[in-house]
Amino acid sequence: MKPVKLPNEIDVLIATKPENVRYLSGFTAPEDGLVVLGREGATLFTDARYAEQAPAESRVPVEIVNPREGYGFLRPHIEGLRVGYEARHMPCALKARIEAEAGAALLPTEGVVERARMIKSPEELDRIATAARIADEGYAHLLPRVAPGTRELDLALELEFWMRRHGAERAAFDFIVASGPRGALPHGVASTKRLEQGELVTFDFGAVVDGYHSDMTRAVALGPVDAELRRIFEVVEAALEAALEAAGPGVAARELDAVARDVIERAGYGPRFVHSLGHGVGLEVHEAPFLNARSEDVLEPGMVVTLEPGIYLPGKGGVRLEELVHVTARGIEVLSRAPRGWLEV
Ligand code: ZN
Ligand code: ZN
Repeated sequence: MKPVKLPNEIDVLIATKPENVRYLSGFTAPEDGLVVLGREGATLFTDARYAEQAPAESRVPVEIVNPREGYGFLRPHIEGLRVGYEARHMPCALKARIEAEAGAALLPTEGVVERARMIKSPEELDRIATAARIADEGYAHLLPRVAPGTRELDLALELEFWMRRHGAERAAFDFIVASGPRGALPHGVASTKRLEQGELVTFDFGAVVDGYHSDMTRAVALGPVDAELRRIFEVVEAALEAALEAAGPGVAARELDAVARDVIERAGYGPRFVHSLGHGVGLEVHEAPFLNARSEDVLEPGMVVTLEPGIYLPGKGGVRLEELVHVTARGIEVLSRAPRGWLEV
């Protein structure tokens, strides 16, 4: 794990966001814990339900506490110090309680742990690559079942069931299976709709292994489809290939977003690419760095990001293709390996 650098304005950080608590400690029930991180080290606080589990899992010292009786247990760790909290995560009510009961004013911080999490260790990369492999294999298992008459929901369930039987601890998110006109919904989670001949179907899915996610999108045609849908598939594929070609260490996230967006704009579909090019993937399925037109992030070796251009035509359908990419010292390694070319079943 990459060490977390505290900003100069604070002496300690109270981390409450579950993925950050897990990252800092290794504790696998992070929603029931918090970590106080100082320059000398960190302490995990959790309750008596985890008296055995937490010390067994945590890389940092553990204190078993009872937050129901108040947050006075934090006093020896934060009193008199400049204490940061995760402003995007800690509820106002909890902040007020800690300030009242532990005697410290909390200062807002953003992205302190997330910045370290952008660069993955070899162990983290391994887990993500394993999750990606399970997703690839799950997709191969699913493809023969993609046929007219099948419900989107049943395909999503079959895919999740298969992946969990083959090493995924859970699904990375509610899978998107968007067929026909539903393909125009960038986040069309699987519904009770049945697939029909002549439709294009988008599958967006991933697995979780030891807390780490994968994320990939593929599209399949049920026989010959409308010429414009075939056309936007080709444009999206060209945009993805341009982004894959351009990606590598030192490349600005917003430049990469522009590379893919240019291809789609030149084809006349600019306004139909309604989201950003991609995002980091790790303990969260969407995490820093974010690949969009306003991003200040620059790709660095050890980052894992998605590249996922899409075109959505309301009322008609849509296409998105998404690859999961590890940025290396020399270029990129594509972790999602399932075939993504035009496929009619
Ligand atoms: Zn996705
Ligand atoms: Zn994604």
